[in-house]
Amino acid sequence: MDLSSSAAEREFRAHIRETVTRHLPADLKAKVESGVRLKKADGVRWHKILAGLGWGAPNWPKEHGGCGWSGGELYIFEEEQALAGCPPLSPFAIKMVGPVLIAFGTSEQQERFLPRARNAEDYWCQGYSEPGSGSDLASLQTKAVRSGEDYIVNGMKIWTSYAHEADWMFALVRTDGSGKQQEGITVLLIDMRTKGISHRPIITIDGAHILNEVRFDDVRVPVANRIGEEGKGWTYAKFLLGNERALIAQIAASTRLLAKLKSIAKTEANGFGGRLIDEADFRAKLAALEVELEALRITNERVLYEAKTGTVGNGGAILKSKGTFISQALSEIMAEAVAFYGAPWLPAALDASWNEPAIGPDYAKGAVPLYMRQRANTIEGGTEEIQKNVIAKQVLGL
Ligand SMILES: Cc1cc2nc3c(=O)[nH]c(=O)nc-3n(C[C@H](O)[C@H](O)[C@H](O)COP(=O)(O)OP(=O)(O)OC[C@H]3O[C@@H](n4cnc5c(N)ncnc54)[C@H](O)[C@@H]3O)c2cc1C
Repeated sequence: MDLSSSAAEREFRAHIRETVTRHLPADLKAKVESGVRLKKADGVRWHKILAGLGWGAPNWPKEHGGCGWSGGELYIFEEEQALAGCPPLSPFAIKMVGPVLIAFGTSEQQERFLPRARNAEDYWCQGYSEPGSGSDLASLQTKAVRSGEDYIVNGMKIWTSYAHEADWMFALVRTDGSGKQQEGITVLLIDMRTKGISHRPIITIDGAHILNEVRFDDVRVPVANRIGEEGKGWTYAKFLLGNERALIAQIAASTRLLAKLKSIAKTEANGFGGRLIDEADFRAKLAALEVELEALRITNERVLYEAKTGTVGNGGAILKSKGTFISQALSEIMAEAVAFYGAPWLPAALDASWNEPAIGPDYAKGAVPLYMRQRANTIEGGTEEIQKNVIAKQVLGL
């Protein structure tokens, strides 16, 4: 496996960089760079611009409106967006439910859902976790009972990111409780405007509202919205989880954060008349993380190279475990770099409409909320302990 980039890859990267830079609205870039909290509308706006360029769902095959790019090209595309300061896009439609629909959906479902997802017309959320069923996902209890051409769904989901803003949810429900846990699970696509769905916000430690509790009380879901076969949902769910874990590796975002951190360290005083970057201890921490990030980048290339089919499978667990370690460590050093300017607790300052003078340098206001947000990295998409179990059993065969 040759890891040096080819002339074709360098040309591809230059094309992406030039196009992204030309189309990214200056106000969106400024928002991303200042570290304010992005809204759903920011991501949707950028997604629609990409869709206009034919890049709305680059990871999909060409026959479904994707770009048919290789794993390496997709990686370059993501990296260039992160480096340019583009708003991150919601992964649920394009990277999660889209590939499942392509692999297992009927042609009617593909025609109905894929173009709307690609063009950022539908916003999706993921209904997997339940109170009591997170790591042990197969124990989930939300029930779907067949009634004519509908299922009647009752139960509760929790930690559902963006449920309050989503048009659709892809949900795991139990259609049979008699056999092995994994065998009675079904995937349903649920219209979030259906009668009987309610949600309550869960505000996280950084002050953000992303998470929700979602209740289903006699919610009717057409059988036509079932993916694949009844009771075979666990297979589709696992296919999706492999992709999700690789997503949380956040390599491009960490690359950007590292660059920002270096630039802060070059300007921030260390309290002893010098700059932070001149402190050997600080520099050593940064350098160690840069080495880790480079190793992760190479591992990512290896996983992509091996997963020619486009799914990353168990390699996703390695990427997630290492990637979240790095992103958490970077956010910790960022909080350290801003020192006491990180102490004022002003969540409102993270709103783009905030126009009071900043306390300390502008880049300081997002540092501690980011540090707190990144604690969730080792929980969401499967906890760190679960990734280690997957690596031990499935990758190392222990
Ligand atoms: C920010 C955030 C966003 C999320 N978004 C979504 C979403 O959009 N949709 C969704 O469905 N879910 C979402 N989740 C939920 C997430 O997938 C679960 O929190 C996660 O899978 C862990 O489940 P749990 O919280 O029930 O913890 P538990 O499974 O109860 O785990 C508790 C502790 O026990 C450990 N543990 C459990 N089992 C084992 C084992 N076999 N071996 C070793 N240790 C073990 C865990 O590692 C953990 O430390 C989100 C979570 C967060 C934090």
